[in-house]
This record gives sequence, structure tokens and C-alpha cells, in this order.
Amino acid sequence: MSARILDGKQVAAAVRDRVASEVADLNADGVTVGLATVLVGDDPASATYVRMKHRDAESVGMTSVDVHLPASATQSEVIEAVDALNDRDDVSGMIVQLPLPDGLDGEAAVERVLPTKDADGLHPFNLGRLVLGQPAPLPATPSGIMTILEHFDIDVSGKLAVVVGRSFLVGRPMALMLGARGVDATVVQAHSRTPDLAGVCRQADLLVTAVGRPGMFDASYVKPGAVVIDVGTNRTEDGLVGDIAFDEVAEVAGAITPVPGGVGPMTRASLLANTVALAREATGR
Ligand code: NDP
Repeated sequence: MSARILDGKQVAAAVRDRVASEVADLNADGVTVGLATVLVGDDPASATYVRMKHRDAESVGMTSVDVHLPASATQSEVIEAVDALNDRDDVSGMIVQLPLPDGLDGEAAVERVLPTKDADGLHPFNLGRLVLGQPAPLPATPSGIMTILEHFDIDVSGKLAVVVGRSFLVGRPMALMLGARGVDATVVQAHSRTPDLAGVCRQADLLVTAVGRPGMFDASYVKPGAVVIDVGTNRTEDGLVGDIAFDEVAEVAGAITPVPGGVGPMTRASLLANTVALAREATGR
């Protein structure tokens, strides 16, 4: 293997340490930093994600508030739960765990979260601020990727970045962040309709894959020496794997994030970073 491994666990630990120290300072000033979650129904994956978020929050000294509604909850009950958390001073940030059960409108629930409590950075107001280049809580996954690049001194200014995937959760905000003033990559946003995807990806100095297809990107998609960021999280019989065929791509790439242990831990760490930033913002500290 020739590629440098970009260890997301190591970077996430550094982010958590910083957040823990900021939380301690705020607590010393009498400010409670709290992360709340709204979970609806019993989807096991969603329940696991929520549990991990509470564990993470507690590990950095935040309080955590767990609102769990039954799958039979109505839209107005979900909205009421969000409103109640919006009103609480001890809730600095919250997330509505998506997807909601069939029949409920997840986007409407996310829009109901006050933009000033939007720990996931997914409220349309905050996504709009990202488009405008104004400060806002940033979507956790692409924000975590930016932190990885910064941590490992990977400068993408003037480089060609190809982002495969255009979801509002990952691909689109990722492209915006890489192309922002001061970051200055030239960004190509690829998707399922992109012709000659391998040829497009092979141009990339930085390749970010956020598709959800196990091992889809083999070495033929990767320029020698490129930085490869694998967002894909696919549960297979062989365990958790990314979108990148890791073993063969690691022979070609200059640097690569593993799955697990790459982008995933950074997503969780970014949520904590957003939450403490919202607490500081709300209290003027
Ligand atoms: P979506 O399903 O919302 O988006 C997938 C994107 O991939 C779409 O834009 C789609 O294109 C594109 N795509 C699908 N098939 C192809 C193809 N054959 N060639 C090129 N592009 C294709 O997924 P998400 O963005 O929410 O998530 C993507 C992956 O990242 C998943 O594996 C998910 O589990 C993982 N993930 C990981 C996180 C982490 O913390 N590590 C956090 C969030 C997501 P089109 O728009 O044309 O349909």
C-alpha cells in the first residue's frame, strides 16, 4: 500500500478534546450546553445513530435530551416536540433523526427547528447562508471532511475536486465548501447521469465519493497520487465498506480515508462542534 491513511478517528478525537474544553469553559460560566434529538419510530439504524450521538454528547460534558415518539406519532406531534425543544434554554442544538416513518414530512420537521438550534446545519436558512458564504452551522459530514483536509494539511486551492453525489446531506454542500472563496478548489459535481464517470474521476486531484455503492470506485477511477475521501457507508456481508475498492485504490492514491474510521467519526465530531458553537453564539461568548 502506498497511500497515506487519513485516520478520521484521530482527527475526531482532537475535535472532541477541543469541544470538551469549550464546554467546560461555558459550564464554568453557568451555561449549559445541550444536544437534543427527536427520534420517531423504532428503526434500529436510526435508534443506534441517536444512541451514539447521546454518548458522544455526554463524553464531552454536554447534557443530552432524548425525545422518542412512537411510529404512530402525527406530524403535529412531531412539530410540537420540536417547538418544545426550541423553547428550552438548556438545548443548544438539536437534530431530527431522518428518515421519519412513512407518512411524516421530515423536511417540514427540520424546517421547524430554529436555525439557531440547527446542530445538523440542514435547515434551509443555514444552507442558504452556506450558498451566500456567510457563517452558519455546516452540514456535519462535509464539514468533517473539511476538517480532515485541514488537519492533514491538504491544500486544495487551485486543484480539481470531483464530488460524486449531489444529495443535500453530503454532495451538494461538499461541492459548495470545496469551491468556497479561500478554499478555492475547482469543483465538478458528478452524479448518476454523468457520462464517462471513471474518466471524469480520473482527472481529480481530490475525489470525494458519496454514492452508497460498495466498492464501486476501483483503481480505474483514480489518478495516481490523488486524495480520496470515501463517504460511502455500506453494510455488506463483509461488514461496513465504503464506495471505494480500498485495497486496490490504496495502491494508486496519495492519501485515502478508510471505512470504517474515516469520514464517519468526523460526522459525529462535527455535530458536537456545531452544538458548542451554537451555545456560544446564543450566549454571546
Ligand atoms: P443519496 O442516495 O441521497 O445520494 C446518492 C448520490 O449518488 C446521488 O446524487 C446519486 O445520483 C449518486 N449516484 C447513485 N448511483 C450512482 C452511480 N452509479 N454513479 C454516479 N453517481 C451515482 O445518498 P447520501 O448522499 O445521503 O449518502 C451517500 C453515501 O454516503 C451513503 O452510502 C451513505 O450511507 C453515506 N453517508 C455517510 C455518512 C458518514 O458519516 N460517513 C453520512 C451521510 C451519508 P442522482 O442524484 O443522479 O440520483
